[in-house]
Amino acid sequence: MEEWAPPGIAWERDNVGLQIGDATDDVTGAIAALEVTPEVVQEAVKKECNLIITHHPLIFKPLQNLTSKTLSGKLALDIARNKLNLYSAHTNIDFTRDGVNFALGNKLDLQNIEFLHQESGTMKKITVFVPPDYVEPVTNAMTKAGAGIIGDYEACSFQIRGTGTFRPLKGAQPFSGEVGKLQHEDEVRVEMVMPAWKASAVVTAMIDAHPYDEVAYDVYPNEAIDPAYGAGVIGSLPDSMPVDDFIAHVKNSVNIPAVRWTRGHSSTVARVAVCGGSGSELMPAALQKKADAFVTADIKYHTFHEARGIIHLIDAGHFETEVFVVDVIVHRLKKRFEDAQTKFYATSYITNPITYS
Ligand SMILES: [Zn+2]
Repeated sequence: MEEWAPPGIAWERDNVGLQIGDATDDVTGAIAALEVTPEVVQEAVKKECNLIITHHPLIFKPLQNLTSKTLSGKLALDIARNKLNLYSAHTNIDFTRDGVNFALGNKLDLQNIEFLHQESGTMKKITVFVPPDYVEPVTNAMTKAGAGIIGDYEACSFQIRGTGTFRPLKGAQPFSGEVGKLQHEDEVRVEMVMPAWKASAVVTAMIDAHPYDEVAYDVYPNEAIDPAYGAGVIGSLPDSMPVDDFIAHVKNSVNIPAVRWTRGHSSTVARVAVCGGSGSELMPAALQKKADAFVTADIKYHTFHEARGIIHLIDAGHFETEVFVVDVIVHRLKKRFEDAQTKFYATSYITNPITYS
């Protein structure tokens, strides 16, 4: 799960990862669901699965107590009493490639799907000065810790040879040179990018592999965009269609009896932005990327007013726009653990609490 949707990319106020349980348990089987309900817990017990994987975290706000008086408390107790584990991947699965939003885009048959909005400032750059014989082990250690990934390339670094100077002081244990004497040393400057959340692991790995007793290195903020992650997606329909046909297409694709929507500007729809769940704040990005329509959920009344006459804004349900990720999770885990006996299931329950009538 975390190779695909690392917890470090989640929204800073999110709560993801193992929520209840023991990370050393062997997984007997796993059930994936959008959220945990009493039915999902029963299903896990019945199918002898000791792991429940959800998109929505059960524990989100700090708990005051853990009792059966609240629904979430009761669920947590049931999970623990049945020796089950609960793992949640929330905004990290929203922001990753092939996560919630790619699943929704695929369901709507969008082509050439790309991220709708990507934040800068999620990357850092590390620069370190290494004696030539140690460039390979130091670079390898940083690569292993997650530095040097740019899109579909790994182990990306830049290296330039130069001269470092230092005068070892009393107490130093210099790799080369003598205490009290100015040393000119042949060194290689190695630069690599890294996701900000991996910076401390990369620095630790680099220092472990470096031969100096005092390592000279810099960690810089980097405004470059990490192509691996982003919010929402945008793509094109295979053929543009009249707006009313597009509304029918959305209803049909996400299996919802009705959508709340407001009419935008264009008479046909070709470019479509989507964000599963509450994605209203991405409307400016959808406009900037020239989407004809924006499909999301939890849209407020006044947001519809803002969109009217500008962009076809469609609320296709929180559950309905996110549920496809459950099958994606199951599919990925089955593939990743092809040789294992572990069974992976998507829940057979519809956990959506909302009905339409
Ligand atoms: Zn959601």
